[in-house]
Amino acid sequence: MSEYIAPLAKLIEHFRALPGIGAKTAVRLAYHVLDMDAQSAKALAGAIIEAKEKIGFCNTCFNLSDCNPCAICASAERDHSVICVVEQPQDVAAMERMRDYHGVYHVLHGALSPLEGIGPGDIRVRELLMRLADEQVQEVIMATNPNVEGEATAMYIAKMLKPMGIKVTRIARGLPVGGDLEYADEVTLSKAMENRREI
Ligand SMILES: [Zn+2]
Repeated sequence: MSEYIAPLAKLIEHFRALPGIGAKTAVRLAYHVLDMDAQSAKALAGAIIEAKEKIGFCNTCFNLSDCNPCAICASAERDHSVICVVEQPQDVAAMERMRDYHGVYHVLHGALSPLEGIGPGDIRVRELLMRLADEQVQEVIMATNPNVEGEATAMYIAKMLKPMGIKVTRIARGLPVGGDLEYADEVTLSKAMENRREI
């Protein structure tokens, strides 16, 4: 039996299930919630419900969005002839923090990994190809993570796009190898974009 009363134990369990939250932190967060005034606790719970209800995927780029198409895909100020391909929505956020990319995105929702049994059908490659058939795209920038899976994904997509006459570039190394795009600082990311090369 848990040393905590049931509703508290349940709250701790939910925090514990979150990424990066250990047992001690889960307990601390749960007690913190109990210390909050009722209004703040309701606002926290409400924000979770609202985010889940209102946020879905953009049907064009598959980034998270509360509208469809998303603000970036719908913007006339973005350069729709350049598509930056990333693995996760968090990577779009990292690129946007950099502020000097003005093209649009395509989120794959993963990377190829034969070891984990993730093939082209498991990520949004087909959707990218359909998009390229429809839109006037001149350059596709492969900004997948600088690890084995990210490299393999970049090469696979480059191979498919070559016959379509679309320039495919890969962001430069300089990003920590094996690292995540998401955690790259703006200067490193900006340099990696600037020094991208054709593949
Ligand atoms: Zn979009």
